[in-house]
Amino acid sequence: MLAAVLHAPNDLRIEEVKTPECGKDQLLIRVKAVGLCGSDIRTIFNGHKRISYPQILGHEIAGEIVQVGENVSKYHVGQRIYVSPTVPCFDCRACKNGWYCQCESLIVPGTTIPGGFAQFMVIPKDIIERGQIIEVPEGMSYEKAVMTEPLSSVYASQENADITLGDTVVIIGTGPIGCLHIELAKLRGAIKVIAIEMSEVRLQMAKQFGADYLINSKEEDPVARVKEITGNWGAEKVISANPSTEAQKQAIEMAAKRGKVIFFGGVAPGKLTDIDTNIVHYNQLTLIGHFGYDHLQNYKSFNLIASGRLVAENYITHVLPLAEIKKGIELTQSGEAIKVILQP
Ligand SMILES: [Zn+2]
Ligand SMILES: [Zn+2]
Repeated sequence: MLAAVLHAPNDLRIEEVKTPECGKDQLLIRVKAVGLCGSDIRTIFNGHKRISYPQILGHEIAGEIVQVGENVSKYHVGQRIYVSPTVPCFDCRACKNGWYCQCESLIVPGTTIPGGFAQFMVIPKDIIERGQIIEVPEGMSYEKAVMTEPLSSVYASQENADITLGDTVVIIGTGPIGCLHIELAKLRGAIKVIAIEMSEVRLQMAKQFGADYLINSKEEDPVARVKEITGNWGAEKVISANPSTEAQKQAIEMAAKRGKVIFFGGVAPGKLTDIDTNIVHYNQLTLIGHFGYDHLQNYKSFNLIASGRLVAENYITHVLPLAEIKKGIELTQSGEAIKVILQP
């Protein structure tokens, strides 16, 4: 089968590999759509501490079941499924606390086991028993189904931070994740959503998802502009969805009193953010580190897309064959694409 295999950081090869065999307790799927995620691109260039090479990446996966192991009774051939890549152990200290995305032995397709950048993929027993497989209803495309993955994390962060009716919400960074934040904040009842971005191309794309104000942080001071828009009050919720420490610093400066600042995007390892903690202290800010989502948040996100309440197709600007993954990476990095989906 054809697969995109990462042999080492910055050594991605499109090559023929042996099609995996379906064990007794496993499923084999024909991967129909797999999202190209910002984290995949980071891993392709910089590697990932949990990967052993060579590895097939890809964690935003949907496909059709083509083989069912003899011990598996829950599924049948021909079923169309979305496979969530968060598989907790339910046994470690974090899991026992109910913090599944903090699981100490989390299984993640595309990181700890082969992922979806391939024509076929084995769904192991662990995923069948402890992960989350959702049947994709007739009429819902595989491409739409894989948008569940990025949305789940966005959904979880907004639910955890209680973004709600009447909030003014700032989103810094309008890549695909930032755009999802904009639309979801509006769905949750935010009255003003302010999008901040350095790239004018990305900023203009953010408009269609419902941003009320667009700020190009290269051209104007985003903190001063947010203060101006909010009558010097600041925003109740500020989400930094980008890898910049400067943006994290600004996020704190533009938050309202008792506001919540969500650090959604990670920054380069070892890079420190220069924060005036007196602002946090006197304004009683809450800083929230966000990572991952739980099964219920994943399920709700899937349903938001399946119901059409969140219009997933608006994000999918490019659908490419797997062999053109490098083109997909370029389109994503240049800001020309919002979301690239690959068809292996
Ligand atoms: Zn992802
Ligand atoms: Zn665990």
